[in-house]
Amino acid sequence: MDFSLHLYRNLLYKLLVKRFKFEKFYNERFFQNCLIILRHDVDLKPQNSLATAIIENKLGIQGTYYFRMVPESFDIDIINKIADLGHEIGYHYETMDTASVKLKVKSEKLSERKREELIDVAYNEFCENLEEFRKIYPVKTICMHGSPRSPWDNKEIWYKYDYRKLGIIGEPYFDIDFNEVFYLTDTGRRWDGFKYSVRDRVPQQQKWIEQGLVYRTTNDIIKAVNENRFPSKAMITIHPQRWSDNYIEWTKELVTQRAKNIVKWGLMRLRDR
Ligand SMILES: [Zn+2]
Repeated sequence: MDFSLHLYRNLLYKLLVKRFKFEKFYNERFFQNCLIILRHDVDLKPQNSLATAIIENKLGIQGTYYFRMVPESFDIDIINKIADLGHEIGYHYETMDTASVKLKVKSEKLSERKREELIDVAYNEFCENLEEFRKIYPVKTICMHGSPRSPWDNKEIWYKYDYRKLGIIGEPYFDIDFNEVFYLTDTGRRWDGFKYSVRDRVPQQQKWIEQGLVYRTTNDIIKAVNENRFPSKAMITIHPQRWSDNYIEWTKELVTQRAKNIVKWGLMRLRDR
């Protein structure tokens, strides 16, 4: 029987199975409520990222995975597998750091000309790496990697160059309005790690803190979601290397992150002086 509600439901169900997304007519994903951008920074242990990618895929969720161009992250086999699960792949870049090693500049205090040269080298390396990525995936978004021990801000190349000219449509730190989108990250293996984070923080954090949107544990977040206290738009950043069901790996991550947090806290105090 055609035009039955039963058939209608069947049609929608089949579309869902085929990964169609339903959007309101006024379009723009950002106007929708209950939107979460699930971001994964694959700093190391790419195989752990495959584990989260599979879990999400089974729940019908798609996220974005940012890989670095270093052996401990860039794993073509894993990248292909994660892309096959329907997730987006992006470039987690750090070429100010690598260019500074190449040019042997150690201090932040540079002449104007030297800084310009550093930015040029970093940009060229970025372009080469992007090309490398695009041999396996049509990368459209990027996200800076922030090493807490590095004096360089990897975003600095974009004060001179324009990533849009390279076909990049988004860099979270520039293209997301964090006044509107709540930012949550597991940096430092806790959800209130902005207290410890040197680079992975957004200037608008204070606004959210004032609203009491500070969580320590994952259960705190789950509780907030259950009680409808979670913002309707958020970017959640996870580092999949931290998430594991393997007890030995889990303990190792706990101990090293605690030590790292103490170091980061020291760096922050020095910087804020
Ligand atoms: Zn990173």
